[in-house]
Amino acid sequence: MIQLSNRLLSMEESATLAMSRISRELTAQGKDIISLSLGEPDFFTPQFIKDAAVEAMNQNFTKYTPVSGYDDLRESISDKFKRDNQLNYTKDQIVVSTGAKQSIANVVMSCINAGDEVIIPAPYWVSYIEIVKLAEGIPVIVQAEIETNFKITAAQLEKAITPKTKMMIFSTPCNPTGSVYTKEELKGLADVIVKYPNLVVISDEIYEHINFIGKHESLAQFPEVYDQVVTINGVSKAWAMTGWRLGYIGASKLIADACNKMQGQFTSGTCSITQKASIAAMKADPSVLKEMVTAFHGRRDLILKALNEMPGVITNVPDGAFYVFPDISSFFGKSNGDFKVNNADDLCVYLLSDAMVALVTGAAFGNEKCIRISYATSEEILTKAMNRVKASLAKLK
Ligand code: PMP
Ligand code: GLU
Repeated sequence: MIQLSNRLLSMEESATLAMSRISRELTAQGKDIISLSLGEPDFFTPQFIKDAAVEAMNQNFTKYTPVSGYDDLRESISDKFKRDNQLNYTKDQIVVSTGAKQSIANVVMSCINAGDEVIIPAPYWVSYIEIVKLAEGIPVIVQAEIETNFKITAAQLEKAITPKTKMMIFSTPCNPTGSVYTKEELKGLADVIVKYPNLVVISDEIYEHINFIGKHESLAQFPEVYDQVVTINGVSKAWAMTGWRLGYIGASKLIADACNKMQGQFTSGTCSITQKASIAAMKADPSVLKEMVTAFHGRRDLILKALNEMPGVITNVPDGAFYVFPDISSFFGKSNGDFKVNNADDLCVYLLSDAMVALVTGAAFGNEKCIRISYATSEEILTKAMNRVKASLAKLK
């Protein structure tokens, strides 16, 4: 009989993708499901980007590309890093991949040996843990609580570092909490990181433009840690290009070359048409995103207001991304008829069957007391979903 690898068997299915698959299946069966499970903007890719893709096709950009991306794309990314983040990455320090997810996998696979420890502040994005496990690294979880806006402190980071620590992975703005690290908070982390020159830090900044408190701050801005930081970004979120599949890193030449080599054996360069279209995105003035950010801001306020009117739901105020991560642990131990809610997984199952609203359990993000709500959809749908959730929660006694 065919035996699958231990590597595969010990891997969890992505909880975000699993929940969106279940929602799709139930919708296909005719159920009126509202899915707030997937982190995907409901906007369409801007027309000027689509036009650039058509142009690329017509110009026959349809062949294999350089593994790390076309030169003109990497130059436009280099300019974007300077313009938006005041970061200097030459094009040789940039590797384009098939999404930020692959960029993270490239870095982890290139740097981690079996038994190396990787610090992951929780709540974390679901895929970090599984990618680290795939590389036979050991995830070391540092818990950040809702009271501190789900952000870890420099002291917490330092306490978690051991002689085996090789890496840390975090996101700002954060998926799933929407937390945004300030410049001062990042400087505090940098002061610790610089003391451990072998430490590589993946700073996942894919939500950089979806920030309600002002300017995005990058960890790599501090010169003392620049070589240790890998800045991850991509076009999925800001430019509503989730299906186009393009992410990128800015890193030291050592790590960029390693990722190029790694990617050359797995996927080669990402889609030629996507790459040309992404040049248009990189060159566009980010102020055109203002309308989208304003819409997300309004939705955040709407959803927070609705959640705060539900007895037993505790929220903080997320400053970016398009998620809220409320603590719903006060419902544990309560029942509706035969259905008893023991944990966040149960609550998601309950809300899917009773309210027909799909959310993702906090357990998948390293916090057992919370659930993740993605508000990347219209205010009308959000209002309907929140009314249903409120009614279902009220039935739990
Ligand atoms: N990092 C974070 C924090 C994410 O939420 C996501 C989800 N899109 C990714 C990386 C992966 O993005 P991409 O679509 O570019 O693979
Ligand atoms: N990152 C998004 C999310 O967290 C998309 C799904 C995924 O890639 O896991 O929902």
